[in-house]
Amino acid sequence: MPRIMNCDGSWVEVDLARLRGNAGAVRDSLAGADLIAVIKADAYGHGLEAVAAALARGGVKRFAVAYPAEAAAVRGAAPQAELILVLGAACPAEVPRMVRERITPVVVSAAHAQALDAAAQAAGLRLGVHVKLDTGMGRLGFVCPAETAQAAAICRLPGLDVQGVCTHFAMVEPEKKPGAARGQVDKFKQAVSAIEAAAGRRLFRHMSSSRAALLLPDCDHDAVRVGISLYGYGAAEPDKRFATAPVLQWKSCVLQVKTVPAGFAVGYYASYKTAAPTDLATISCGYTDGYQRHLGNKGHVLIRGRRRPVVGRVSMNWISADLGPDSGVQAGDEVVLIGEQGGERIWADELAKHCNTIAYEILTGISRQIERRYLGQ
Ligand SMILES: *Cc1c(COP(=O)(O)O)cnc(C)c1O
Repeated sequence: MPRIMNCDGSWVEVDLARLRGNAGAVRDSLAGADLIAVIKADAYGHGLEAVAAALARGGVKRFAVAYPAEAAAVRGAAPQAELILVLGAACPAEVPRMVRERITPVVVSAAHAQALDAAAQAAGLRLGVHVKLDTGMGRLGFVCPAETAQAAAICRLPGLDVQGVCTHFAMVEPEKKPGAARGQVDKFKQAVSAIEAAAGRRLFRHMSSSRAALLLPDCDHDAVRVGISLYGYGAAEPDKRFATAPVLQWKSCVLQVKTVPAGFAVGYYASYKTAAPTDLATISCGYTDGYQRHLGNKGHVLIRGRRRPVVGRVSMNWISADLGPDSGVQAGDEVVLIGEQGGERIWADELAKHCNTIAYEILTGISRQIERRYLGQ
């Protein structure tokens, strides 16, 4: 009797105990500096509130997100957090909420500073901020050294309380452009001196994201802003400063198995034909879920502890895998799209290679509509 499958679609499992272990590994490696856990983009697809709460339970006190609305959600999940930093250019309309919820935006330009200051003064409030310096990333922030004086001048705005100063590396690996990271470090140091002189006190300084935290320990300053390594990517070598392990698994199940002859065409435009008699599995997951079309005829999934090639084109809701003859696979069997099964593993960086992208995009590309199940609370 064929088993009746019971699968409305794929789901994500997030191991919160492993997440806390990763945060612990990063924190233990830091001498004196603190960890700012970067949890923007729904905690890289892992779920903002659950991740914030789990990290807070594990002793993490500082967080960073992209938008004030995310920051407010973090405040709800981690009421004791010492810092909830908004890395984007927060809108002046958000000033009352940011003061109320103790959310700290970065200030990215003189115009941004003036707008936030005006909103704060109009509401009779004082907003704590960090100054964002552009030392070579070419994204947000006061361009250094050209705008360092403007950045220092915001210390005089009565509606703003400048508490910190930060920048972001464009590249860390010295082999790609020798000296680029060091150039950013030097620009940061000079600008920090000028801004601290204007503030009349030492400010909270932070610069490094995961890669820099791993490779440039002398750039820790007061805190490192670590994202991807918390989720277990980019820090696998045990001899490095810290090692972390993937936290997220993405699973689905087999909807149908069919035994087919050689030369059987699979999927739109018959991009795959079976070489010999074989079993084919149809699996619940497709590009609407974030399983990218590039994975058709390239990626693998795990079923019954073995790697199975994804064959034919990825469709909107379904993919097919070639199981080989006499597979024994049945409808209802669990499928691992990202994760481990029976000693085999497929992590997001493997999918990323096939898609010519990075693990960040694979993780954040998993549809938010897919259920996140939390383990290891
Ligand atoms: C996303 C982000 C980080 C975290 O980067 P990872 O490479 O994930 O560690 C740190 N700082 C800023 C400004 C960011 O935007």
